[in-house]
Amino acid sequence: MPDCVFCKIVAGEIPSTRVYEDEELFAFEDVQPQAPVHVLIVPRKHIPTLNDVTEGDAPMIGRMMRAGARIAQAKGTAAAGYRTLFNVNAGGGQTVFHLHLHVLGGRTLRPGLG
Ligand code: AMP
Ligand code: ZN
Repeated sequence: MPDCVFCKIVAGEIPSTRVYEDEELFAFEDVQPQAPVHVLIVPRKHIPTLNDVTEGDAPMIGRMMRAGARIAQAKGTAAAGYRTLFNVNAGGGQTVFHLHLHVLGGRTLRPGLG
């Protein structure tokens, strides 16, 4: 995906602060953090939104969630608490159309969802 910012981050063509990587996932610090811990976990392969995730991608989604928990642990916010979320399409607040899991923590998050 030539014009995808997260594909470029995965390829190292746009700089990022890497937090974690493996064969299929890449995690990096959000450039406009909404909390002291704000990490994005993306698949290396381009998937636009959660709507485009297939049954075959399901194990990878599970590994994204597990990576989120491990990152929260490593960042010291696992016990106090944190939030993971996928924004989906414009009405769901998605602005970058390469699937990404937000991991937010390091402060007390408002109950519920705005
Ligand atoms: P969303 O609104 O769910 O699509 O989230 C996109 C997120 O990507 C936002 O929190 C942005 O701050 C973040 N973002 C956009 N460009 C970059 C970048 N080059 N490096 C790191 N994070 C980015
Ligand atoms: Zn992409």
